[in-house]
Amino acid sequence: MATSNSKLDTHPAFARIPPWVKAKLRPIAIEKIEQVYNWVETECIPAERIYKAQLAKHRWQTPEIIHELRTKAKAQGLFNLFLPNHFEESPGLTNLEYSCCAELMGRVYWAPQTMNCHAPETGNMELLAKYCTPEQKKRWLYPLMNGEMSSAYSMTEPDVASSDATNIGIKMEITDKEVIINGRKLYGNCKTNEEMQLFILMGCSDPGNKQPWNRHTTLVVPANSKGLTQVRNLTIMGYDWAPEGHGEYIYENVRVPIENIILGPGRAFEIAQGRLGPGRIHHCMRLIGQAERAYELALIRCIEPNKKPRGKLIGEFDSNIERIADMRMTIDSMRLVVLNAADTMDLQGNKAGRYAIAQSKILVPNALLKVIDEAMQMYGGQGLTQHTPLPEIWTYARFVRVADGPDSAHRHQVGRDQMKTAKEFRGRAEQYTKRYRELCKKWGLKPEEFWGIV
Ligand SMILES: Cc1cc2nc3c(=O)[nH]c(=O)nc-3n(C[C@H](O)[C@H](O)[C@H](O)COP(=O)(O)OP(=O)(O)OC[C@H]3O[C@@H](n4cnc5c(N)ncnc54)[C@H](O)[C@@H]3O)c2cc1C
Repeated sequence: MATSNSKLDTHPAFARIPPWVKAKLRPIAIEKIEQVYNWVETECIPAERIYKAQLAKHRWQTPEIIHELRTKAKAQGLFNLFLPNHFEESPGLTNLEYSCCAELMGRVYWAPQTMNCHAPETGNMELLAKYCTPEQKKRWLYPLMNGEMSSAYSMTEPDVASSDATNIGIKMEITDKEVIINGRKLYGNCKTNEEMQLFILMGCSDPGNKQPWNRHTTLVVPANSKGLTQVRNLTIMGYDWAPEGHGEYIYENVRVPIENIILGPGRAFEIAQGRLGPGRIHHCMRLIGQAERAYELALIRCIEPNKKPRGKLIGEFDSNIERIADMRMTIDSMRLVVLNAADTMDLQGNKAGRYAIAQSKILVPNALLKVIDEAMQMYGGQGLTQHTPLPEIWTYARFVRVADGPDSAHRHQVGRDQMKTAKEFRGRAEQYTKRYRELCKKWGLKPEEFWGIV
């Protein structure tokens, strides 16, 4: 039943939300979506250049403006909206309702951070909320939820194919009191930024276990642990993504107390499975917002009076009119994919939502790469420079194809699951043929005369 809240039809925060989603939004969600919209439009977009200027001064420190905005956002009840409403610590939104907020946050790359809704924090906090003891929550979850520190998720390794987590090889020797860690890790935010205080680390604690899914353990490693060295800050397609960045790490006899183990030794796969939920598509949700920004920039360029090749506005060329149409339709269709994934998780749980999550991970970044690419094209030379945010937006879409698992791995999983349905279709095809033979008899036809494979 459609809700009669007129705001849904008039306020720009809801302009892109499809009617079936509007019909599901509860008053608390309507209020939060409007608040997030106003926050991003008035506090974040106008401050984009301030953020850059402050970052240029202190490359690996969180800019002052972020601290100020975080304090304000928290006071306005805009913190941690991502945590789904089945957690006791949740501010109350469903995944579907949060998707609408996340898209708006995504309009500015760092806006989610002002609301404590950024990666990898959201996936990490969800993991900690799901699997930690009350004591562990006090040490790690609540400080993260309060925005007092930040965290990294560290699974990928340079020496193995990490998309298959059974390969994870960093050594964890578990004694009575502590865990001793040795090995290398790739990715996980940089500890160059002092706010980054803990790693959620997956490693191999029982390599001889016959069951590959019981060999690994997840635990928390304080960033200042002795023997933990950041070898370098990684660049992603030339960008350092400061002030959080991505690091490469060496662990040499790093010792952490066994109380830092989450859920228990050998249970990392349960945790990794649990992390496959909403956190996996938060990037996609935000990316829709980034694509909307690219689209709006394209529209602005279409009517830019100073840009008139052959005496015509950019938007007067048929090719660009068609480009705009394709961009609009692609973004709208990708939004439906993401919203469907969020709704499926709400209605059927994360496990049942596996296909919808994979669909989102595979389709959304790929399709939006094209949208952003077309916007760059319409900007000509400037489109590929820092005169526009388009190259950064494009790079974000590109990295979402790999981060949280490469799309090929998701595609492989979807394809394998789909192959399992082939037998059923074969059975049905046999039934069609049987019935065809019966119909031939009835109508006096010879089946072989009109024969095909099916
Ligand atoms: C910007 C960014 C941020 C990241 N942040 C983090 C982070 O915070 N923490 C972290 O631990 N990691 C992080 N990663 C790493 C990312 O999760 C891994 O790179 C990814 O899971 C793939 O693992 P891999 O690099 O070892 O590639 P591999 O496992 O070696 O895979 C390489 C390629 O092989 C192919 N492939 C793999 N599996 C399959 C399959 N099943 N079917 C078909 N083809 C397949 C794919 O083309 C894949 O891209 C980040 C990556 C990026 C780009």
